[in-house]
Amino acid sequence: MSSDPAPQVIDDRLVSLSPADGSQVAVFDVAGPEEVAAAVKVARETQAWWWEQGIAGRRRYLLKVRSLVAERMPELLDLMRAETGKTPSDARTEVATALEHLNWAPKHARRVLGPRRVRTSLVLIDHSAHLEYRPYGVVGVIGPWNYPVLTPMGSIVYALAAGNTVVFKPSEYTPAVGQWLADAVTEVVGRPVLQAVQGFGATGAALCAADVDKLAFTGSTATAKKVYAACAEAMTPVVLECGGKDALIIDRDADVAAAADFALWGGLFNAGQTCIGIERVYVHTEVADRFLARLVERAGALRVGAEPDSQVGPITMPRQLDVIAAHLADAAERGATFALGGTDSVRPPYVHPTIIVDAPEDSRAVREETFGPVLVVNRVASADEALTRANALPYGLGGAVFARADGMRIARGMRSGMTTVNSALAFAGMPRLPFGGVGESGFGRIHGDDGLREFAYAKSIARRRLRQLFPLLSFDRAEKHNRLIDRLMRVRHR
Ligand code: NDP
Repeated sequence: MSSDPAPQVIDDRLVSLSPADGSQVAVFDVAGPEEVAAAVKVARETQAWWWEQGIAGRRRYLLKVRSLVAERMPELLDLMRAETGKTPSDARTEVATALEHLNWAPKHARRVLGPRRVRTSLVLIDHSAHLEYRPYGVVGVIGPWNYPVLTPMGSIVYALAAGNTVVFKPSEYTPAVGQWLADAVTEVVGRPVLQAVQGFGATGAALCAADVDKLAFTGSTATAKKVYAACAEAMTPVVLECGGKDALIIDRDADVAAAADFALWGGLFNAGQTCIGIERVYVHTEVADRFLARLVERAGALRVGAEPDSQVGPITMPRQLDVIAAHLADAAERGATFALGGTDSVRPPYVHPTIIVDAPEDSRAVREETFGPVLVVNRVASADEALTRANALPYGLGGAVFARADGMRIARGMRSGMTTVNSALAFAGMPRLPFGGVGESGFGRIHGDDGLREFAYAKSIARRRLRQLFPLLSFDRAEKHNRLIDRLMRVRHR
């Protein structure tokens, strides 16, 4: 079933190919453990200089990077399209969202990470308390191919703003996009605060073992577990942004037309190759027929192809076509029906929009990441039944709710790191909202205040500024001091 355009090795070099037509996009040397270690060494030497620039200096540089990316956006969009097959609209949405983060993180680094005084405690009133956030040093970033700009930049920009330097291993499917980003940063900063190391999984594994001070991984749950285990060896802290199987719950009082429109976009945007993409829909039986009618009508009208006005592009990773086909076949065998498409929807390198209805909850299309333009729509008797089903998987990344009266309650009941109400995927474009999952979707956060703190450690300083009022921190404490402490504690805490 798979068509050819997977990255190739020719003369030991990595060759990236267009998934749409198999043409060659770029060629890179593969970095082995020695090259990766050398890049980490350079990053470590550069980090001292980067830290010396101060929060204000880093802000100036990173905002210039933002302006450069905005100015050269057409060039970047072309490269993204060539390596992933994304439609122009999908690529544009991704870069626009990444630019919001490039703009936000440097501007908020001082507020979130800068030195501040905090209140001391009653018994240590003779001390002042100081809190600041220090960079880890060198951060390794490993990224996926499906959002080759937004996902790595969600770690890179926040790590750089916090004062770290970064060594970045892009996916083997999108090395040229990764290189473009590193080159843009180097052009502005003039020093290698961000370097790309190219290669396959082994290069990522080498980065985990290369004495980095923190590792930010975005990719599948299966690889995340390998990364986590490799990093445990040196107790390297990790942030893991992994896969999901996000659910959309539609309650009986929902705006059904809007729910269908957002379900379609949330599920089929980027040809369904989205970690936070809607893959399962649980719709109240009272509105299910109306919802399905509109969903099928809209999905059936989407343009599939590689033309500039296409709405669903090719599947980037050829072997995913086999996974999608297997999910469709399994659903058919298990008694699900198809409201649109069917087992013949996979036509390499494309998958045509497909709506599966009433798939068993233990079928592959309900339990595993399909990562294609496929939605499963299952009917439920109540929003609470939908929540039970939505929460039944080990994943917990994002999700969505369409409801009028009960939207916030249902959203809070969803076991996931992020949920939208009466919308889809919106949290990813809001720099103030932390991004990340629970369970097998990973841990740690990028974006927002938490995303800045993810790439820094808290440094607490307690400074004695007065003579000790009573010798709490001393062996000279007398019985009268103990009595005073007892009295104080009774007054304060009883
Ligand atoms: P993979 O897990 O296959 O790869 C992710 C990255 O890890 C790639 O750069 C890959 O290199 C590298 N890698 C592979 N093996 C190792 C190893 N042993 N040690 C270190 N690094 C390694 O994921 P995909 O690239 O296929 O991305 C799709 C997945 O990413 C989906 O599951 C999706 O849900 C998830 N994702 C999660 C997001 C989130 O924010 N939670 C956002 C976007 C995607 P190479 O490509 O060369 O094999």
